[in-house]
Amino acid sequence: MNLAQRAIGAIVGSAVGDALGAPFEFGPAGAFSSRFPVPGAGGEMAGGGGWDAGEATDDTQMAVHIAESLLERGGLDLPDVFARFQRWAADDPKDIGLQTEDVLTRGLPWNQAATAHYRSSLRAAGNGALMRATPSAVYFAHAGRQATMDAARRITALTHGDPAAWEGTAIFHDLIRIALNGTNPLDELPQTLATVHPDHRQRYATVLDPAWHPSQATEFNGAVWPCLGSAVWALRTTHSYENALRAAIDLGGDTDTVAAVTGGLAGAVYGPLAIPADWTELLHVPLPGSGGRTLRLPELHALSRDLVEPPHAEG
Ligand SMILES: [Mg+2]
Repeated sequence: MNLAQRAIGAIVGSAVGDALGAPFEFGPAGAFSSRFPVPGAGGEMAGGGGWDAGEATDDTQMAVHIAESLLERGGLDLPDVFARFQRWAADDPKDIGLQTEDVLTRGLPWNQAATAHYRSSLRAAGNGALMRATPSAVYFAHAGRQATMDAARRITALTHGDPAAWEGTAIFHDLIRIALNGTNPLDELPQTLATVHPDHRQRYATVLDPAWHPSQATEFNGAVWPCLGSAVWALRTTHSYENALRAAIDLGGDTDTVAAVTGGLAGAVYGPLAIPADWTELLHVPLPGSGGRTLRLPELHALSRDLVEPPHAEG
């Protein structure tokens, strides 16, 4: 499998996870398996909880806005990403994270809004930047570990003032980079952790340890640490894209985001052919803030290819 295929696996895999997990958000553990007991039976992309079958949520919508900014600006233009987020938030998305909404609608400049939120709330380590990180992870992978992790921190900081969220998203960027190279990202966790800021390293080492189980989480999985830990756990304890996603959604809680993160990793590892066709057929990404566009599989494939090989990389 080549890099371009793995990139498609990551981008589509994350979007599929988001759409597959959305109907189970805030539900109990085991709900997915109880509704769909037989793996591979088909029909799992069924919608529910206000979501149409195959409809991706804010996770993928924000991810696509980042992707389009990177491609149209020829690199990381943080004020542009922030402005796209604001247009998206103002265009009535079906779902938006509480913290993200607060930051984007404060009326503060791009480089002040998240910090102001963090100062006033002191709680900003949600998974709301981790959930949207697959496209930027694909785009910056070629630049190497330090560069991709730094880009992750800067994009995260647009909405999340807590450095814990920066580091979690940075780890995810590096895991995707390793997977795109054709290496099992779980084999390189020590190297990735070594580049995490020392203040945050131990907490991530705990949730990424092979002995850790999501039931040991000390926060709801809407927080960045257990969300990332759960995604890595789902990848580690299964042997296919489909079963990784089933395991992730069966944890309950913030199922769309845990599945989006898991799906990005598992898609990069197993590739696009491992994603059930039954799940990609109905996949669609309504994109508030874009003049009413909806992306489907062909558009997501094109986006993935462009992120790996930008069509006009003169910037
Ligand atoms: Mg969502």
